[in-house]
Amino acid sequence: MIKENLDRIQQELTGTNARLVAVTKTHPVEVLQAAYDAGARIFGENRVQEMAAKQPALPADVEWHLIGHLQTNKVKYIAPFVHTIQSIDSLKLLLEIEKQAAKADRVIEGLLQFQIADEETKTGLSLPEAEEILRSAEFQALRHVRLTGVMGVATNTPDQDQLRREFRQLRGYFDKLKSLYFAEEPTFREVSMGMSSDYGLALREGSTLIRVGSAIFGSR
Ligand SMILES: *Cc1c(COP(=O)(O)O)cnc(C)c1O
Repeated sequence: MIKENLDRIQQELTGTNARLVAVTKTHPVEVLQAAYDAGARIFGENRVQEMAAKQPALPADVEWHLIGHLQTNKVKYIAPFVHTIQSIDSLKLLLEIEKQAAKADRVIEGLLQFQIADEETKTGLSLPEAEEILRSAEFQALRHVRLTGVMGVATNTPDQDQLRREFRQLRGYFDKLKSLYFAEEPTFREVSMGMSSDYGLALREGSTLIRVGSAIFGSR
């Protein structure tokens, strides 16, 4: 089933600019290997320890994306291998990523996570908070973190109009930041939005990274 599901989703991505992040949280390494064998190369995990435990068991060309909240004291466990941290929500976290990436002699990519859902529990930055970070001298001095775009988790709702509004809001944040702070940087290009239940809509609203778990691997 994993292969059929991956093939179906890849089919839906042809003709778009978007790529698939296969969200493998809670699944054992055998399942990740099956997804790899079926062509998946970008894996999303939401917990540091779980990702660090799985990484050595998978081929080296996997792109590991952290998609869950990251505490600064845990950056060191993933800095040697993580490709993209999608959940950057503070300058403090950026500075710690810089420090650990420098130690590992690497550049780590990152997305600024925005609060777009109407649920109190969902974390993320507001636009003014993000702009304050981007304007700071500390941010401009970073050499081992490269911001490549934005990420958001929409409200868990079947309401298509609400989801469309939230995706458009995130896309709007991306466009604004791109024109004001990253106009000369082609690597700032990612809008990570859309999950199993809403990735079709997210693609129509300009997603470049869909994060899909249960539609590939079944319910957790
Ligand atoms: C779990 C998770 C997903 C994938 O959710 P599915 O509904 O299983 O596709 C996407 N993004 C984040 C941030 C997640 O935590």
